[in-house]
Amino acid sequence: RRERELEDLKELAQRVQDFDPESATLFDELPLSQPTVVGLKQSHFTTLTSIQKRAIPLALKGKDVLGAAKTGSGKTLAFLIPLLECLYCNQWAQFDGLGALVISPTRELAIQIFDVLRKIGRAHSFSAGLVIGGKDVQVERDRISRLNILVGTPGRVLQHMDQAAGFDTGNLKMLILDEADRILDMGFKKTVDAIVQHLPKERQTLLFSATQTKSVADLARLSLSSTTAEYISAHEKA
Ligand code: ADP
Ligand code: MG
Repeated sequence: RRERELEDLKELAQRVQDFDPESATLFDELPLSQPTVVGLKQSHFTTLTSIQKRAIPLALKGKDVLGAAKTGSGKTLAFLIPLLECLYCNQWAQFDGLGALVISPTRELAIQIFDVLRKIGRAHSFSAGLVIGGKDVQVERDRISRLNILVGTPGRVLQHMDQAAGFDTGNLKMLILDEADRILDMGFKKTVDAIVQHLPKERQTLLFSATQTKSVADLARLSLSSTTAEYISAHEKA
């Protein structure tokens, strides 16, 4: 059974490598793992939006991505699908600790992201948690060391990184900054810089924003790989 799984993983990796980034219109046409295919089907997602069409294939190939597209254009799936695939392809398991971190500017947006993650990730076996403050920090801390995926607001995530023994970010594969423009507008620049300091340099970073501003470009310069990052804007109707 184990051998079969490894064969499937190798085949998926090959499909990702061979995939022409511009070619998919439907989720069915993307090189995705079976659990993600199931999650998307059960959530009734069939056709890619413009930003998803452009960002997902590149992110699946391991590129850093700065994606700009207006509110309502489907940015959440544009990063959550690559997140699930990244951990799946790395055969992430409970004992591997934190594999992916999603930073969102507000509690409400973090909760929305987490709900979408739960829906499309339901056939995966990763553990995921929400860290947004307003809950007992000790209760959050006890759970945090067992999580594979963390969605949270900047201040609270950094608080845990600074305080929690057992919150090991040393294996992290993927960092996602959602609504980067709002993160900056809300004055979280220093907090995000400090979070990035806690993370391994060798990782994939996806940064999404509704607008392209100079400060977003500055943040991208600090957090994305300067050699491989792809800059995408999809401002046509999604
Ligand atoms: P953004 O983050 O860009 O503001 P969201 O990711 O919140 O956008 O998506 C906006 C809405 O579009 C949500 O209700 C979401 O379920 C829906 N949506 C996203 N992608 C698709 C898709 N491929 N097909 C149909 N609906 C989608
Ligand atoms: Mg969004």
